[in-house]
Amino acid sequence: MRIKNSLAVVASLQFGLAGPSDCHVYALRGPEGVVLIDAGAGTHSHELLHNLRSDLPGCTLTALLLTHAHMDHCGGAASVREATGCAVIAAVPSKAILETGDEEASGLRVAREQGVYPADSRLTPCPVDLTVRDAETFSAAGVEFTAFHVRGHSPDSFCYLTRFSGSPWLFCGDVVFYGGVLGVINAAGSGMSGYRIDLPKLGGLGVEGLFPGHGLFTLRGGQCHLDRAIAEVRKGFLGPQIGQEGLTF
Ligand SMILES: [Zn+2]
Repeated sequence: MRIKNSLAVVASLQFGLAGPSDCHVYALRGPEGVVLIDAGAGTHSHELLHNLRSDLPGCTLTALLLTHAHMDHCGGAASVREATGCAVIAAVPSKAILETGDEEASGLRVAREQGVYPADSRLTPCPVDLTVRDAETFSAAGVEFTAFHVRGHSPDSFCYLTRFSGSPWLFCGDVVFYGGVLGVINAAGSGMSGYRIDLPKLGGLGVEGLFPGHGLFTLRGGQCHLDRAIAEVRKGFLGPQIGQEGLTF
């Protein structure tokens, strides 16, 4: 599903693209190919790649950039890498989870018990070709990104800022959603303490395009959603959370 000339959503449970457990998987065309942001759950990687070919024809997938190691975002990493030879880029805290297929650290075991995923869901280990750290600037498919480590949804959650025609775009995984909704979930490693410390990093970025892993995205005025979330985190009581909004499954 094309959003702009160089941006498409190629998997998404909510838009009915590819698999029923897939987050929004964004495909961004750069000067050196396409970079995927997240990989979906891996049950429908073939369909994801078919969507990519039809949305951005003639492009080569050169990089896969992961926001965190939850199943709906990273489960397809191994199959996408194997099918395309793309380089998998992940943050340092995600690397060990991905490379060992650690279902405890990824949260998959608990999420399976909670009924979020089918009982036969498995996390296929995937090599990580490049790791990134907080505040690091790096290139994927010739697109320059800056990494922001923002704990709260999960200990390994990262957001990635880039510029598209001079306009700041933020791919924010499950950290923040449209309307300033936070991604706190009932799982180990998720909670407000990470948000209190790290979310202010997303202040003052002048973000226009805001592209979360679920729900609405926007091409304009993304910073106001980030600022609302930052304001909520400063209050003494919990603000809107992803489960309350029914944003995911
Ligand atoms: Zn997540």
